[in-house]
Amino acid sequence: MKFHTKYLWVHTKNIHDYINITRDVEEAMLESGIKEGMILVSAMHITAGIYVNDAESGLIHDIEQWLEQVAPYNINYKHHQTGETNGDAHLKSLVIGHEIIVPVTNGRLDFGTWQQIYYAEFDGQRDKRILIKVMGE
Ligand code: ZN
Repeated sequence: MKFHTKYLWVHTKNIHDYINITRDVEEAMLESGIKEGMILVSAMHITAGIYVNDAESGLIHDIEQWLEQVAPYNINYKHHQTGETNGDAHLKSLVIGHEIIVPVTNGRLDFGTWQQIYYAEFDGQRDKRILIKVMGE
């Protein structure tokens, strides 16, 4: 069993951003040399998420609007009593989830046609890290 660990750094221009990291994950798989196994992809932050879905700009806009309804910005969250202002970002991260597992079969990411891996940033404009952990043989 081989293990390969890689860290991606992101620093988004906007507070919210959606970054397609599918190629980065594929690259980590190629570096590892595995043909069968799985890859854990994890946002190493409590105000960001990782998800798998379509790389379609309208859908990304819909996701953003939906999350804003579920966890609106700038309401009086208890978390803000600590001096923080990012209560919504924590809740959005919980809705999206902070990690995914990608199957690897025959040396390829074993995805359906439209599946892409996204890093979702909800409290950006600073350095953030993503963990990619490849496991297999
Ligand atoms: Zn916070």
